[in-house]
Amino acid sequence: MAVNKERMLAEFYELVRIKCSTRAEREVVDVVKAKLGALGLTVDEDDIGGKIGGNAGNVIGFLKGNVATAPVLMFSAHLDCVEPCGGINPRLADGVITSGGDTVLGADDKSGVASILEALRIVGEAGLPHGDIQVIFTVAEEGGVNGSKNMDRARLRADFGYVLDSSGAPGRIINAAPGQNSIKAIIRGKTAHAGLAPEEGVNAIVVAGKALAELRQGRIDAETTANVGIIKGGHATNIVPDYVEITSEARSRNAAKLEAQTAHMVETFEKVAAANGARAEVTVKRAYEPYVLAADLPVVALARQAAESIGLAPVFEATGGGSDANFFNTYGVPSAVLGTGMSKVHTTNEFIKENDLYKTAELVVAIITTAAQSKK
Ligand SMILES: [Zn+2]
Repeated sequence: MAVNKERMLAEFYELVRIKCSTRAEREVVDVVKAKLGALGLTVDEDDIGGKIGGNAGNVIGFLKGNVATAPVLMFSAHLDCVEPCGGINPRLADGVITSGGDTVLGADDKSGVASILEALRIVGEAGLPHGDIQVIFTVAEEGGVNGSKNMDRARLRADFGYVLDSSGAPGRIINAAPGQNSIKAIIRGKTAHAGLAPEEGVNAIVVAGKALAELRQGRIDAETTANVGIIKGGHATNIVPDYVEITSEARSRNAAKLEAQTAHMVETFEKVAAANGARAEVTVKRAYEPYVLAADLPVVALARQAAESIGLAPVFEATGGGSDANFFNTYGVPSAVLGTGMSKVHTTNEFIKENDLYKTAELVVAIITTAAQSKK
């Protein structure tokens, strides 16, 4: 059940060379649908593409098992890539795969996609025992996990699953992630001529500045963060600005702390605006929910056992970032995120060690075969 390294590397290269910007995944979706079909899966594409302004939906594959007692597993990775990802020219030197330096590599997340495909190929070729397996390749993960967010949860069939979409060497297992709120504050002041009648105005920029000075943000505690990311407002120096828009976020792995931090931010904008003759309109949107997977859950125990079975030392960690796993967990499919070895993602220095690619595929095979021996 060894990984066919040459084959896997070639497929990884094939996948990263396909341009697949967020909401423009059509080409790569067609390619992976054909690949899953050739591997004996029934393949479907959902209809969220049009709903999110994209040209392709999530790819959902299903492989019937030959062990009826095994839990139904899900493996997932995302198909889109962050810019610049057109014309990726992957290269291998000293065991490390990089781009040509002018684009990202796209190991985020083609390392996940290639590992799942190679693992399914190995399982099929070797006739290994396995339970039912659902494969979900999402679109539009980058910039808001919109593929999984808009997915119909009724399509999920697995007892639990693995999202192959994290940095860290194979064996790194993410078992907790924050939820996130997006907080948008509009400060409304009063406009006036800055030279003729400034006393008639209420400067929304100044009010915003006072509010931001009181706002707790950055690292709040070990599991909570907040950030003011965008501020827009003002027209000219001779006009007292009456409108400022501030977009921020709060994250926490603890739902109560997320609510508390969000409430603090909303109150600060409202209180400071009111105290300065302005008005704040604050809207809060839940981007995604937090999750914490208990150590005794099958999704965690199986990952540990599988990793150890191929000589990896499993490392369990909480992350500060969100992924498709946040939605799969919300939808009732306990899902952990697995490190694939992808490094310096979202930069043109992105790289992955060749061996981590193969080891990740091996880990997926080990999860499948270990699950085949366990009971639902
Ligand atoms: Zn990713």
